[in-house]
Amino acid sequence: DNEGLRLLLLENISQEAVSAFRDQGFHVDHHTKAMSEDELIEKIGFYHAIGIRSKTKITAKVLKVATKLLVIGCFCIGTNQVDLQSAAKAGIPVFNSPFSNSRSVAELVMAELIGLSRQLFERCFEMRRGLWNKQSKGCWEVRGKTLGIVGYGHIGSQLSVLAESFGIKVIYHDIVNLMPLGTARQVGSLSELLSEADFVTLHVPELPETINMIGDEQFALMKKGSYFINNARGKVVDIPALIKAMKSGHLAGAALDVYPSEPGANGAPFDISVNSWAEELCALPNIVLTPHIGGSTEEAQRMIGQEVSLAISRYLGYGSTFGAVNFPEVDLRVITTDEGDRVRVCHVHKNQPGVLRRVNEALAPYNVEKQYSDSKGDVAYLMADIADVSPADIYNLQEVISSTDANILTRFL
Ligand code: NAD
Repeated sequence: DNEGLRLLLLENISQEAVSAFRDQGFHVDHHTKAMSEDELIEKIGFYHAIGIRSKTKITAKVLKVATKLLVIGCFCIGTNQVDLQSAAKAGIPVFNSPFSNSRSVAELVMAELIGLSRQLFERCFEMRRGLWNKQSKGCWEVRGKTLGIVGYGHIGSQLSVLAESFGIKVIYHDIVNLMPLGTARQVGSLSELLSEADFVTLHVPELPETINMIGDEQFALMKKGSYFINNARGKVVDIPALIKAMKSGHLAGAALDVYPSEPGANGAPFDISVNSWAEELCALPNIVLTPHIGGSTEEAQRMIGQEVSLAISRYLGYGSTFGAVNFPEVDLRVITTDEGDRVRVCHVHKNQPGVLRRVNEALAPYNVEKQYSDSKGDVAYLMADIADVSPADIYNLQEVISSTDANILTRFL
């Protein structure tokens, strides 16, 4: 029963998410815009949950006055707009939508593979300028070519399946050993991949180790006449090095969807005020430049709404932190029968010695049906289902468990 729980949804989160929450009994306030820190400080104290996208910043200052806040949902992929550590310390898990747009990105790469190898965008520009230029030189089928995927995660592996269905050979490089899908093959090193592939596509996250992972040396290892695609993160590629490799004719084409700096809003220019090399890049032949649209589809937006609202409801209703980005992931199967009086104890506490002993002493007189706990950094989370408890028992347990000095948040569901 979610009666009395208030949700604040900002940045025009999908109406489907709004109706799903209202159907579950939540009171929902929906706004189309982001809120500033000051606005949030003024309003957040009234809410048990908040849903945002990338523009609303949830800082330590905001969290300090968020006295009722139980959960944060980021209706997007990134979560760096939230002070994750401060949220965890306040007992607030943060959920996002890690793979709702993977398919959209993989499909865009398929379009780019064919677009580049057929010089589709060049021909298209020429036609728009009134020029008929029928050509077959330097235009290739993708069938039988080798695609090198760097990072075989959600997107890389999905792309692997799509590419094979076009008769493309797939090799991949990842820092972990991953099961190859279809007849794809993991290669031992990035260098091996670069020197074997006709197309190289990046699907790694931005990490200290991946920043500028592709530069002069890596482009030199790529085959002459090969193609380069980046839909991952802009800082992973040294763009001046890419421009050099394109200008010298070593690469036959490139597609970029992401850049080291990106304009903040639609309508803003993409020029040297954003990246010093922007004009040089835009003047290259057979280059496909898109404004970070890899995951931008109606389907992905809908999936984000469903995924994040489900995570929020599962946390509020059952305490499940499965998929949380800043929190120990704890979940127990939900018993749906009405037999007996059961209660689920959800105890978020500081990760310090002695807590479990004290909690288990409190639970000892009862029948603990299931129990699970885990920790992440400074925060730990224990979940226990106990049977045959009266309302008075619950009251007492709440008193005992939440009065320890390690207690961050204790809920009985
Ligand atoms: P993921 O976490 O599922 O997969 C990333 C993979 O990269 C993992 O298998 C990981 O082991 C591997 N990896 C990490 N460091 C590596 C290294 N140094 N060398 C080789 N492999 C390494 O991520 P995902 O969902 O597939 O997303 C991949 C990237 O795509 C992310 O950076 C994400 O931000 C970006 N992305 C872009 C768009 C867009 O609109 N263009 C949309 C969604 C995601």
